[in-house]
Amino acid sequence: MRKKLVAGNWKMHGSLQENSTLLNALVKGIPELESDPSCAVCVPYPYLASVQSELQNTNIKLGAQNVSQHEKGAYTGEVSASMLKDFNCTYVIVGHSERRMLFGESSQVVAEKYVAAQKAGLVPILCVGETLEQRDSDVTERVINDQLSAVITLAGVNSLENAIVAYEPVWAIGTGKTATPQQAQEIHHFIRQGIAAQNEKLAAGMTILYGGSVKASNAAELFAMSDIDGGLIGGASLIADDFIAICKAIR
Ligand code: PEP
Repeated sequence: MRKKLVAGNWKMHGSLQENSTLLNALVKGIPELESDPSCAVCVPYPYLASVQSELQNTNIKLGAQNVSQHEKGAYTGEVSASMLKDFNCTYVIVGHSERRMLFGESSQVVAEKYVAAQKAGLVPILCVGETLEQRDSDVTERVINDQLSAVITLAGVNSLENAIVAYEPVWAIGTGKTATPQQAQEIHHFIRQGIAAQNEKLAAGMTILYGGSVKASNAAELFAMSDIDGGLIGGASLIADDFIAICKAIR
């Protein structure tokens, strides 16, 4: 049985007050969920401590949205993986398309972040995905292969045993345009087959999330696809009722 997960990516949203209202609603709305399938929220750094304390004794896991590739040192403004571990983070997102595109993170840097996260005992949620231009030019598979290969070259294929892959077509993120279940399944299958060629058992057990305009209304049909094991949820993770419904759709 593959592990299922719905993880919210709050991006740069929230305030102490808003977070508290949202988390109260989530804790009330998701109490009956067991730890598998899991539900997690990936929050901005300054809120790690308060969210950690609000999630104590709940089944909702904590994650961050970014991490430094460096262990420690003179890296002003950066946050290390061991710091995230101090706040009991389980997950950290690496290689989100917004980081790749807006902050110039190369696949090599993403791979280094992935390694740093695992070294500290965090589970990286590795985002991969193509732009619309790449999809239209028929290079989707090559783009995803390159993004995965950077990690596999640096960390080895077996490292994926302690990681989660999120397929997030860039054209579907925050645009309201969701990949159809078939489009998403096709790429999830491609990813799993690619890993299977190197380690069949690992590929069969690997959790692959879909991300890109998942909503309460389309989550169930996406999650019903055989290679989709949950979702990475942006906008809808900020609306309690929607996120609760999406978490329930993975059961
Ligand atoms: C994301 O930020 O990872 C994401 C999938 O965003 P949205 O759900 O808003 O498209």
